[in-house]
Order: sequence, then C-alpha cells, then structure tokens
Amino acid sequence: MDQEILDEALEELQATLGDRATPDLSHRIGYSRDWSPRHRSHVDLPDIVVLPKTTDEVVEIVKIAYRHRIPVVPFAGGTGMAGGVAAWKGGIAIETKSLNQVLELDEANMMVTVQAGITIWDLNEELARHGRWFPHQPESKRACTIGASIGCDNDSTFGLRYGKILDVLSNVVMVTGEGEAVRFGRRKAAFTSTGYKLLDLIVGSEGTLGVVTEATLRVFPMPETRLVRGFVCRSLEDGIRALERMLASGLGVESAHLNCRRRLRFYTHAYREKYQKEPEIPDWAEAILFLSFAGDEEVVKFSLEKATRILLDEFAAEGVKEQEMVDGWWASKHSLDFLPFRQKWPDSQRQKKFGAADIGLPIGRVQEAYQGFLDISSRWEQDVLGMTVYNESPNKPTASISFAVFVDDSTEESVANFYRYVREMSAMAVEMEGTMSSYIGDGDRLGGFNELEHGASYTYMKRIKEMFDPGGIFNPGKKFESRWIPTP
Ligand SMILES: Cc1cc2nc3c(=O)[nH]c(=O)nc-3n(C[C@H](O)[C@H](O)[C@H](O)COP(=O)(O)OP(=O)(O)OC[C@H]3O[C@@H](n4cnc5c(N)ncnc54)[C@H](O)[C@@H]3O)c2cc1C
Repeated sequence: MDQEILDEALEELQATLGDRATPDLSHRIGYSRDWSPRHRSHVDLPDIVVLPKTTDEVVEIVKIAYRHRIPVVPFAGGTGMAGGVAAWKGGIAIETKSLNQVLELDEANMMVTVQAGITIWDLNEELARHGRWFPHQPESKRACTIGASIGCDNDSTFGLRYGKILDVLSNVVMVTGEGEAVRFGRRKAAFTSTGYKLLDLIVGSEGTLGVVTEATLRVFPMPETRLVRGFVCRSLEDGIRALERMLASGLGVESAHLNCRRRLRFYTHAYREKYQKEPEIPDWAEAILFLSFAGDEEVVKFSLEKATRILLDEFAAEGVKEQEMVDGWWASKHSLDFLPFRQKWPDSQRQKKFGAADIGLPIGRVQEAYQGFLDISSRWEQDVLGMTVYNESPNKPTASISFAVFVDDSTEESVANFYRYVREMSAMAVEMEGTMSSYIGDGDRLGGFNELEHGASYTYMKRIKEMFDPGGIFNPGKKFESRWIPTP
C-alpha cells in the first residue's frame, strides 16, 4: 500500500477512534495469521489495526477505507483454518472482539441480540444466568465469535439436533462496501417467504461482502441432563445406517460423531497418559460412534437404552468399555482453558500442526471417500490423523467430514504438499457430487479452484461481490483467488 494514503487514512481513523487505531508492529503481529497450515515463520501483516466498539464506528472505518480504497479484513478469534483473516494484501484489520455486548435478551420470544464480536463461550455464560443456552458450538467456542460463525459457516457439536448457524440465526446488521449499516434477514419470525434470502448469502461470505456487527439468534432452554456414550461399529457404513435407524425409530439424538479407528487415537491422549495403556477397542472395530442424548432424565435414559438395543441387536456393535475415555473425548470438545489443545495435540502443535480437508458428501459415499483419503494422503506423504463424520442437519445423517492430517510446517515444500493433498481431496468431493468445504470455507486456499464446484454460477458470485463491495475493499483475494492451490 502507498504509505501516503495509509498515513492519511490513519489520521482520519484516529480522529474517530483515538488510540484504538494503531499502526504499531506489536499490535499488527497479533493479527498476522490464523490456525491454517503454513510455514511456521509465515506472517501477513495488516498495515493498521482498529478496535471499534459500535456499529457506527465500523461505518466510519469502512467509509474511510472506501474513500482511500484500502483493504478491510474482519478479524475475530483468529482460530480459522482457511487463512480467512490473512491480510494478504495489507490494509486495515478490524478487531471485532471489542464488539462484545449482549444488546437484548427477549425471553418471551427465545431470542438474543448481540454484537457480533462476542464469543460463543461468553454468550453462553450470560445465557446460563437465565437458564438458557445457545447450542451452536464449534469446539473453538471459547475464542470463536458469533460474527465469525456467520462469516465462515462453521459447524457445531450439536448440529444433529440444532443444525448450522443459519438454523438459529434470524437477522444480522452488516456494514456494506460504501459504509452503510443494513439489517438483513427476517426480524424475529422463524421463516419468511418474502424478498430474497440475503441472510443465506451472508452466511459463509468470510468478510468479503461486509462486516457483520450485530446478530439476532434463537436460544433454547438448558437441557436438564445429558448422557454421552461410545459404540464400536464394524464399518463406517454400519455407523451411518445405525444412526439412520435410530432417527427413523423416533429417537431424538442430540449429537453424533462417527470416527474412523485412526482418529480415535487423537482423542485418547489423556486416557493413555493416565493409565499408560491403550483403551480396549476390539480388532474388528473399524469405526467409533459417539452419541449424546439430552433433555429430561426419564426420556434420556429411555433413549439411550433404545439406541443401545438398535446398535447391539441390529448392527452387532459394542459399547465402548472405558466410559472415562468417552468422557475425556466429550470434555475435549468443551473444556475450559482450551484443554482440547493439550489433550488432542500432546506437543501443543510445536512439532505437528493440525490440518484438514473438510469436505461434504452425499451420505452414501463416505466409505468410498475414506479409501480415497488413504490413497491421496499417502500420495502426498501426509501423516494421517484420521476421519470424523459430523452430522450438521437437524434429525438426519449428513456427511460433513474432517479428513485430518498432521502437517509438517518446517519447510515450504511439506506445507505445499498439504495443499496438494487438499486440492485432490476437494476434486474428489466434487466428483462424488459433494462440496469442497463443508465448514472451513474458501479462505485463501480454495478461491478460483472452487469454480470447479460452482461452474457457471461462479460468475453470479463475482457480480454479487461487486454489488455489496463496489470498491473491492472487503477481504480481497478471499474466495476468488488462491495462494496455495492453482486454479485449474
Ligand atoms: C482448536 C480448534 C478447534 C476448532 N473446532 C472447530 C469446530 O468444531 N467446528 C468448526 O467449524 N471449526 C472449528 N475450528 C475452526 C475455527 O475455530 C472456526 O472456523 C471458527 O469459526 C473461526 O472463528 P474465529 O472467531 O476464530 O474467526 P477468525 O479466524 O478470526 O475469522 C474467520 C473468518 O470470518 C471472518 N469474520 C470474522 N468476524 C467477522 C465479522 N464480524 N463479519 C464478517 N466476517 C467476519 C474473517 O474475516 C475470516 O474470514 C477449530 C479451530 C481450532 C483452532
């Protein structure tokens, strides 16, 4: 960026925000990367960091950026896995976590309106005081914000009952490309058949259409009790069919996670540390299905008994013997102080970095895709961590899959091999009539290459971007360009 333009913009930003607009390197470095695999010394420095506290302040920031045609990158928890916050083309990083207020809890309508930078954890702390909870919860909920959940359309531990963010989102306020704050969505009604569904467009837009500053969300009564159990299955397909059978029987399953045998090792570090032995998993077991049931005690107990009968009698599955191991797995999804990091990544990611191809598939292609995963990861010399199938649609089995590997981030070549692996996995997903990414997003990896999935509709996406963002300032490069995967 031209330094003179930046200096002028900084002066204007400081006139509005004071020292909450800064060019200091010590601040910029904190906004220079997320959790996506890249070489360990790689950073993308924004030129200026701003910390707005209100929608009006975001409006002012965007107006200044638009006037000077300076890139604007919304930055939330920085836990994204796709490089969505990488200030690849410099510009202004908007720290959204200062927008962290609960604006209204409407108990009669079971709705809450928040500023978009509040973390899911903090929102739930507040709701707990009123006996309510917000069930859209990625494992990173302690750092991950509501705005980023909307921004990257992430997934949730409780997706099988409550779906994805769109299932619990009523409307948002977003500041668009010329600095106008606009409400998108359907106020507090659960549905609308008027107008176009622009809210759907914003979900997953990764800060390329605007900065989300407020959101109105559906909240739920806190369940009275919860039981979590694990079952070993003879194949991945058995696990999926058993879940389908449970749902068809009328059971309300709260969450279901189907792991390949390899992936289980990732979750059992705490168990091994404590007992100095492997958990007892029979040799024939190819998959582990974790289930949770939540609600009134009587219903939860009955549901678990019925689910157990289906699994054991109809699918020759077995219950996981060490409940402590199951509890450890569950805790790894919810613990304080990011225990998951310590539990799942024994070396705290110093030597190995988590990386995943996250693809969505038609439910019948999972077993076949698993074989593809083993072949493709071996071709690119990836250290396989394993596969988890997440269910992200209310009351039906769906295949949102994490095909995870450990990435060696010590050389450019080994990181490049990871992205070659992602490219082939993504192409496989499209060939199987699925999607290249079901919860991580395009970020700075799939842009351009994703035309393979979207075909002619890709042109309409580009036009939509131009309409919302006429100056091309919002998160430039994301969705339409890739630095890591060449366009075919
Ligand atoms: C330990 C760990 C566990 C994880 N578990 C899960 C999981 O269970 N499920 C899952 O889906 N993901 C998971 N992730 C990935 C990541 O946490 C999610 O993608 C999450 O949504 C990122 O949130 P964030 O607040 O850190 O966003 P950031 O990384 O800061 O931003 C993500 C994207 O959203 C955009 N954005 C942020 N705020 C706004 C806004 N207000 N308006 C417009 N755009 C915005 C950013 O520009 C960027 O493109 C995990 C990551 C880690 C490190």
